[in-house]
Amino acid sequence: MTFIFAFANQKGGVGKTTTTVNLAAFLAARHARVLLVDTDPQANASSSLNVSVGDDGLSLYDVLINQMPVSQVVVPTSRENLSLVPSSAALAGAEVELIDVPDRGTILQRALAEIESQYDFIFIDTPPSLGLLTVNALTTARHGVIIPVQCEYLALEGLTQLMRTIQLVHDNLNPQLEISGVVMTMFDSRTNLSTQVVEEVQRHFGEKVFKTIIPRNVRLSEAPSYGEDILAFAPGSKGALAYRALTEEFLSRIRPQVQLQKEA
Ligand code: ATP
Ligand code: MG
Repeated sequence: MTFIFAFANQKGGVGKTTTTVNLAAFLAARHARVLLVDTDPQANASSSLNVSVGDDGLSLYDVLINQMPVSQVVVPTSRENLSLVPSSAALAGAEVELIDVPDRGTILQRALAEIESQYDFIFIDTPPSLGLLTVNALTTARHGVIIPVQCEYLALEGLTQLMRTIQLVHDNLNPQLEISGVVMTMFDSRTNLSTQVVEEVQRHFGEKVFKTIIPRNVRLSEAPSYGEDILAFAPGSKGALAYRALTEEFLSRIRPQVQLQKEA
């Protein structure tokens, strides 16, 4: 069985990529076979995993626009069991190029069908917008969407729009789509604001909010520039402990369907 989740919030810089990459890394370290799909033209997830696709390289763009089989685009990463469908800057033009393509909201889903059985988890990182790339991610996310929310002023702003998009995709393209979790990120224990935001989001989303809260931790922001996930970069850091705990909580929510081995 393959679990497919999208990580989405059209607000920029809330921790989508950090959460996708590190949750994927901890699952891979527990010997799950994980595929990360980077649908963001910024390609932050790809570069966080030390993969960069130049002008001639293959990326998700070739899958979406040139109908290239996704198996030709998947690359391994330095983390065992973690593979990547990289993004590239070319993807920025994809939404416009696909405007007249029928069934353009289901391209990613159809493309991944060929290889999905090779993985236990497929995680899809999305750009900070609610355009066609995010719609494709939500359509593909059979087991739901995880929404990272930054612990800051106006955290809930814009989420109504996200909810509306999720509802539309649910009604038209992916009847199985649901919100599987909300992750509070960049919590700053020195401010009351962070606590207030968590309480407000909990009032709004109830049990959907993961109990594990990701603290603001400089190691988490440094790791991507070394092309490493937090488990490789700073395994004892607060950021690593938080994402390990989040991984456990995430797994406990989908058990008993999966049982993984101990962390490598
Ligand atoms: P975008 O919308 O641009 O795709 P995003 O939602 O994917 O952004 P990230 O790239 O994960 O957000 O995080 C935004 C910035 O904050 C990055 O520089 C990242 O390294 C940093 N960051 C993320 N989480 C934390 C954290 N818990 N502590 C400190 N820095 C963090
Ligand atoms: Mg991102």
